[in-house]
Amino acid sequence: MCGIIGYKGKRNVKDVLISCLQMLEYRGYDSSGLAVIKNNKIRVTKCVGRIENLKEKVSRYDFDNSVCGIAHTRWATHGKVSEENSHPHRVGNVVLVHNGVIENYKEIEDLLIKKYKFKSETDSERICALIDSFYNGNNELEAIEKATSMLKGSYSLGIMFEGKNKIYGIKKDTPLVLGIGNKEFFLASDICALLPYTKEFIILDDNEIVEIGDNFNIYYDGIIIYKKIETADYDVEEAMKNGYEHFMLKEINEQIDISRKLYSKYITNENINDLIIDLDKYKRIDFVGCGSAYNASLVAKYFIDKYCTNGEFYANCYASSEYRYMNHYFDKNVLVVFLSQSGETADTLACLRMCNEEGIDTVAIVNVISSTMAREAKYVLPMLAGPEICVATTKGYFSQSYICSLLVLKVMYKRKIINREELTRILEDFNKLPKYIDEVINKDYKIIADSIYKNKDIYYIGRGIDIYTCYEASLKLKEISYIHSECFASGELKHGPIALISKRTPVIALLSEFSVCEKTINNICEAKARGAKIITIRKESINIDKNLSDYDIVVPLVSEFVQSILIIIACQMLSYEVAKLRKCDIDKPRNLSKSVTVE
Ligand code: GLU
Repeated sequence: MCGIIGYKGKRNVKDVLISCLQMLEYRGYDSSGLAVIKNNKIRVTKCVGRIENLKEKVSRYDFDNSVCGIAHTRWATHGKVSEENSHPHRVGNVVLVHNGVIENYKEIEDLLIKKYKFKSETDSERICALIDSFYNGNNELEAIEKATSMLKGSYSLGIMFEGKNKIYGIKKDTPLVLGIGNKEFFLASDICALLPYTKEFIILDDNEIVEIGDNFNIYYDGIIIYKKIETADYDVEEAMKNGYEHFMLKEINEQIDISRKLYSKYITNENINDLIIDLDKYKRIDFVGCGSAYNASLVAKYFIDKYCTNGEFYANCYASSEYRYMNHYFDKNVLVVFLSQSGETADTLACLRMCNEEGIDTVAIVNVISSTMAREAKYVLPMLAGPEICVATTKGYFSQSYICSLLVLKVMYKRKIINREELTRILEDFNKLPKYIDEVINKDYKIIADSIYKNKDIYYIGRGIDIYTCYEASLKLKEISYIHSECFASGELKHGPIALISKRTPVIALLSEFSVCEKTINNICEAKARGAKIITIRKESINIDKNLSDYDIVVPLVSEFVQSILIIIACQMLSYEVAKLRKCDIDKPRNLSKSVTVE
């Protein structure tokens, strides 16, 4: 779930491991550890909390002249956060780091319990023992193969054996790459972590074993295989803060540039290109994603419902964790669109595989184009957002909503719901986004944040498209500020939630839907009458009484297909300022992880 690093080469092994772990910090973790081989002996050091703690701890020992090592950040799934449960684990002659979840770890424990005494509660230590049970001092590959063939679940593993100056890696259903430098080799769960050292890498596929010694070999079924070396298409600077106080702020600002990139990829000659898919042939589109990706897909469904739905065509949105276990009626008229920033989200990937097995056409809207989903979906629509480091997404959501809007417009054009001129007019607004985003980012959110950051509850309300933007806005606020936040279709307020409003409870109303704004204004008045502090975020053309709200943010007027993008950027900025005043760890919110590769 979190991060794995391995290194063999001439540099200081400990320093490389620590610096790469720091590059992985963004994924969120609760403890960390490393193991290095020096004088044929493996030394393991681990601790709870920050990588800084690990750095401090290892500085007490002499790690010079180590030949190789593995390291880990843990996001606990089995067993509490403690030093014993942290990785690397050592059993017999085997030392191992693991990301993922082993579903049959109890069965494995039962098999081994007579021979081994377990020190931790983790599923990972059971894998370590299983490998050791097959190890005879000389058959590393065979022991790994035999052990992993018995595992049910997901894993990427970095493994070392006592007395051998080598590192082994294997994975199933969670990512692992081999980084290739100049006479030096790396293992990592994310190529981003290796960018200060190399941009060349090989993506490992399920059940391939990489053996790193003075050179490397990749094995599948005991036979050496040769794989393509890829080059990362971004620089280390893109994965750094570049003077911004937080990655989140940097990534909010990057939306300006991403909108330019998306425009030049997907729109040429005032037409939508490069969406690859022949949208004519489908009668139903299912959108499937988790968290913010799910929220982004709601925007697409909203517009399809509003403009395209008829007896023969409609769309649905599903949380991947639900879609996976539902009954489905599939036929060749169904297109399933998967959204995932990392392209590795476990639940979404499982749904993609299910659809592929059914022979359904699949599309992946992903940011990491070397990801498993990008490789397994029939069509790929790259998000072009560059590495997203802050755990809470901003630019990822932005890019997904942008692409979803284009998909809908393409459907509308193909189905003659809009004509050429209308499409051209709408696309002109996509072109204006960079300037408008800049304008929205630079408004004064601090003054609003200052008046609400001490509140325990903050509510978002809206109607039409705004309620879907509210989902994402409210999620962003609670993720990074830990303030309890919910959102309601504003007409629903009086059917229950209004009981939660008391004196000075902040209610943030989004107003971009002209046809229902009068109704939302009535609902704002109802909340105001109960003492709520009102913040309005509205598009330019919606006028409100100046006494209606305590604070008012106005964003430029654009086509409705991109209006919600401007509204959400205002909400992202507000959440950021609130979290900053609360002194939260904005880029690494507690309990969250960036690439959720467990179910
Ligand atoms: N399931 C393992 C544990 O709880 C690995 C967690 C992770 O991926 O970090 O230790």
